[in-house]
Amino acid sequence: MLDYTLKRSKRRTTVAIKVAEQKLTVYAPFYVSQTEIDGWLKTKQDWVAEQIARQSSQAERRQLPLVNATIKLFGQSVPIIFAKGPKSTWQQDAQSRLTLSISSRVKYQEANYLALLERFLHEKLESYIEMRVHDYCLQMTEDLPAKLKIQHYKRRWGSCNKRRELAFNLHLASAPTWVIDYVIIHELAHLRHMNHSAKFWQRVCHFYPDYKKAESWLKANGSSLSW
Ligand SMILES: [Zn+2]
Repeated sequence: MLDYTLKRSKRRTTVAIKVAEQKLTVYAPFYVSQTEIDGWLKTKQDWVAEQIARQSSQAERRQLPLVNATIKLFGQSVPIIFAKGPKSTWQQDAQSRLTLSISSRVKYQEANYLALLERFLHEKLESYIEMRVHDYCLQMTEDLPAKLKIQHYKRRWGSCNKRRELAFNLHLASAPTWVIDYVIIHELAHLRHMNHSAKFWQRVCHFYPDYKKAESWLKANGSSLSW
């Protein structure tokens, strides 16, 4: 027999059922007996089961893009586990699996998971780039840039301006580190040559001889770096 909540009312003259959030509610007048309700419900069993199944698959579909997902971090696949917790936080275990926890009370859960994932990638990429910029500035006898920023770009991997501010595309977090290193050296070389002149490429080549390989990797795989 189906589980249901029975709601009786004086004004009601007919029996009705409602399926919402995979729960069944039966509305009935006071004069209809429990046995009559159960007997009537039996004839509706298939319809109720179908409604419940349809609603649960709709609920699943709403979460589907984020179920059993993986992302790439520095070229390595990282499985993501979506969890509920008292507050929004992430955690990476020894097998490098990433658990994203958000509060079950927040609205727009999918958007919140995505925002949390991007905060994770942002932090990872930022600390990697900070470390490498420091190393390469020493090698290139270059003063540290005035500012480092990670942001969303549609069509570029990095940028450099006259105020010595460098910015890098957040999607680089999914690229292998040897490719990120190339983008870093490319932008640091712009600190002396604000163009793509022969002198600029000479400087890039001096500190990153395989730059053509990295350029063609970005051309071939760049569009797959989104999530
Ligand atoms: Zn450039």
